[in-house]
Amino acid sequence: MTFKGQTAVVTGAGRGIGRAIAEELAREGVNVAVVDLVEDEAGAVSEALSAMGVRSIPVVADVSEAESVKGVFEAVLKEFGSVEILVNNAGITRDALLLRMKEADWDRVIEVNLKGVFLCCREAVKAMSKRRYGRIVNIASVVAFTGNPGQANYSASKAGIVGLTKTVAKEYASRGITANAVAPGFITTAMTEKLPDNLKEEMKKAIPMGRFGTAEDVASAVVFLSSPDSGYITGQVIHVNGGMYM
Ligand code: NAP
Repeated sequence: MTFKGQTAVVTGAGRGIGRAIAEELAREGVNVAVVDLVEDEAGAVSEALSAMGVRSIPVVADVSEAESVKGVFEAVLKEFGSVEILVNNAGITRDALLLRMKEADWDRVIEVNLKGVFLCCREAVKAMSKRRYGRIVNIASVVAFTGNPGQANYSASKAGIVGLTKTVAKEYASRGITANAVAPGFITTAMTEKLPDNLKEEMKKAIPMGRFGTAEDVASAVVFLSSPDSGYITGQVIHVNGGMYM
């Protein structure tokens, strides 16, 4: 996989899965714009990537805001001149059972998880179309396919990402841009650490591989779909879940 010197935008790269993706891409020699809400986190990751020998900039942005997203791509094009890879990883949860779910929590999850992907894809395809090359990888979730009690907003946002990914794939295939999704199962990060231990033990029993995934398990699939080698794969979802959903 030779994509050394290309530029990737990774959203939500300040920690967790996004950070692992940024690090794996940097290991392949890809320059990375580290997009995150929190300045300190984006800065720390960006410094770590620079120490690995690639070029990296931190970009503080809220992916749910169109102007903020425009600013990301302006900053990246100014610094690197092109964007070959977009990884839409930023995501949040605001869990509650349907009857108790607040409208504001429904809206915020859809805004960040789904509208954020739309806004970033829209900016990215402008830059990628000009060069007739691009790799877009959107982070969905197993719950897009299975549903999950307490996650009406989150599972709907992730199912929306799958439909959006397929449409982007169809619209931009002729421009050399691929769009795929990765659907992680249960991955150990800050997002899942907050779940009660008894629930985690129950969930582990449903995983044929008998363990939760790591951020690196997800990053490996993302790096493959970001590489030139995946050029004939588009509109697909790769499940990274230890077999919990097939
Ligand atoms: P995480 O540890 O909570 O990290 C999410 C990152 O996204 C954080 O750095 C966060 O910034 C950033 N972010 C949140 N809202 C943002 C916004 N509006 N604009 C820009 N950045 C924003 O989560 P994770 O577990 O690594 O999850 C990463 C992705 O994988 C998410 O899309 C998640 O839905 C998906 N996923 C995770 C699992 C799992 O088991 N962990 C399973 C399936 C799918 P702050 O630091 O400011 O909060």
